[in-house]
Amino acid sequence: MDKEKIAIERLKTAAEMSLATYQKPLIITYSGGKDSEVLLELAKRSGIEFEVNHSHTTADAPPTVYHIRKVFKDLEEQGIKCTIEYPRMSMWELIVHKCICPTRIIRFCCRELKENKCKHRMIATGVRWDESVKRKKTRGIYEDMHSNTEKKIILMNDNDDKRRLFERCQMQAKTIVNPIVDFTTDEIWKFYDNECKYRNPLYDMGFKRVGCIGCPMASKSRLMEFEAFPKYKELYIRTFDKMLEHRKEKGLETRLEWNSGQDVFDWWING
Ligand code: SF4
Repeated sequence: MDKEKIAIERLKTAAEMSLATYQKPLIITYSGGKDSEVLLELAKRSGIEFEVNHSHTTADAPPTVYHIRKVFKDLEEQGIKCTIEYPRMSMWELIVHKCICPTRIIRFCCRELKENKCKHRMIATGVRWDESVKRKKTRGIYEDMHSNTEKKIILMNDNDDKRRLFERCQMQAKTIVNPIVDFTTDEIWKFYDNECKYRNPLYDMGFKRVGCIGCPMASKSRLMEFEAFPKYKELYIRTFDKMLEHRKEKGLETRLEWNSGQDVFDWWING
């Protein structure tokens, strides 16, 4: 069976599990990027009942925000329920509140702005093993995200016996399916370019990823992001200024070379 068919089978199984466990349709999580676009197209082709959910991070590039609004309007006209979730605190408030910058090691922003959503629901994500070695080791096809990490269940293949075992579990917290987990990046681009209805304009501006502007996971492409959206650079510098003030108020020790928001930004952007 080819990967498209396998992904559709996974979506169908997940949709059944969602209705049986939560009495609610499967949620397709949508970021406006290529992986979630492929996932959305496969969900439409599978014929399942589903909803679509986007977590607004407040650091998304404006073209992504407009793109998502346009896609959701179109989907809602087709009778598909779409939800945009807004966070309690913006990225900028969060940095000041936590008194730290998001880094590759401390990604508190993802936890607060993206991951802590859709509780007591079954969700489908566009997570793929090809994205990083860590994902290959830690992410499965079906995942029961129990609050106690020792009770978390992750299944790495489509084996029926294991799936039955999984279906019998007490699924109280969020349950995740990753239908395109085994698609390579080349396969995703091919499907995105040739089969998907919607296209994020950032890709045509030369962007390879469309997550938050300045995301520490984006490494060197952050320089290009700040060149394309200089207002975000100013926003980070102002936020780091406030963060330094807050650290002072709280009596926290601060690196000697951090005398201003600009100093923090320079340290942060240079890794
Ligand atoms: S900046 Fe990166 S790590 Fe933080 S919320 Fe956005 S995508 Fe997640």
